[in-house]
Amino acid sequence: MLVVMKPSATEAQVDAVVEKIRSLGLLPHAIPGAQRTAIGITGNKGALDPSLFDAMPGVREAIRVSQPFKLVSREVKAEDTIVDVAGIPLGGPAIVVMAGPCSVESREQVLEAAREVKAAGATLLRGGAYKPRTSPYEFQGLAEEGLKILALAREATGLRVVTEAMDVETLAMVADYADLVQIGARNMQNFSLLKQLGKIGKPVLLKRGPSSTIREWLMAAEYVVAHGNPRVALCERGIRTFENATRNTLDLNAVPVLKSLTHLPVVVDPSHGIGIRAHVPAMARAAVAAGADGLIVEVHPCPEKALSDGQQSLTPGEFAGLMAQVRVIAGAVGRPI
Ligand code: PEP
Ligand code: MN
Repeated sequence: MLVVMKPSATEAQVDAVVEKIRSLGLLPHAIPGAQRTAIGITGNKGALDPSLFDAMPGVREAIRVSQPFKLVSREVKAEDTIVDVAGIPLGGPAIVVMAGPCSVESREQVLEAAREVKAAGATLLRGGAYKPRTSPYEFQGLAEEGLKILALAREATGLRVVTEAMDVETLAMVADYADLVQIGARNMQNFSLLKQLGKIGKPVLLKRGPSSTIREWLMAAEYVVAHGNPRVALCERGIRTFENATRNTLDLNAVPVLKSLTHLPVVVDPSHGIGIRAHVPAMARAAVAAGADGLIVEVHPCPEKALSDGQQSLTPGEFAGLMAQVRVIAGAVGRPI
C-alpha cells in the first residue's frame, strides 16, 4: 500500500502515519519525490484496508499497489529515479556511458582503456576484479589488486568506477573502491547478497539473470530497496534462448517494459547481449533508440590478448565509432550524452 500525503500535510501528520504503520507491525518506507510526500508500506501478508489511513489528518489517499514489486514500481513512484553515481546522474535526461575491459588485467591495460574511453565520451570506467567464470580454470580476476588499479585509473582520469561484487564476503571491500557496484547476471537471485546490498552506501547496477523474467528481476531489485538502498539501476545483458548464433539474446523488449513498470534507470549491455564485437555498435544504437538510460560496453586496448571476453570487446577506435553513432541516435530521441 502507498499512503499519499496532502501537499499541506505537516511533519507531525507524516510522523503519525509512520507510527500507525509501525504499530501494525509493518514497515514504512519514505518514497522520495519532488511533487509529493508518500509512504510505502511493506510487510503485510494480505491486502491492507485503505480506510486504515484514509481518514488520518494530512492523508490525501491510500492506494493499493497491485504489482508484487512495490517500492520499485511506477505505481508507488511515478517519476523517474535518478541514481547519483558519485555526481553523475543516471536515469536523468543524459545517457550515461560506461566502458572498459571485461577484466582488470594490469595497470597499463586499465589506464590505457580508461584514457581512451574517456576521450570518446564515457563517464564511467568498467572492469571486473572478481570474475564469475564458467570454468574454474579460466582467469578469476586480480581481486583487491584489481580494485586498486581501478582506483588509480579513477584518480588519473576522473572517471567513476563500476565493478562487480561477487559475494557477501568481499562486498564491503568492493563497495569501498566502487562508485557503482555491479551485481552480475549469475548473482541476480543471490538473496543474501541482495539483502547486504541494502546496507551499503553505494548505488547498485543489477544485471538481469540469464534466465530471469522481468518480474523476477524487479523482485530482486525490490530486495535491495526493501533492505534500505534505493539507489538501484537495472542492466539488461541478454537472456538465454534457443538462438545460438549469438552469445545471448539481447532483450530490448525489456527496456520499454521496464520503463513502464518501474521508476528505476535502465542500462543496456550490448557486449554480453550479443557477444560478437562487430555487432555491438548496432545493439548499442538500438538500445538508445529503445529508451535506455545508459550503456555498458566492453573495450580493451588489445582485444585479441584479453583474458576474458575478447571476442566481444571493442578496440578503442571501434568504441569511438560507436559513440559517434550513438550520439546521433541519442539526438534523435532527444537525449544528450
Ligand atoms: C561482465 O560484466 O563482465 C559480466 C560478467 O557480466 P554478466 O554478469 O552480465 O555476465
Ligand atoms: Mn565480460
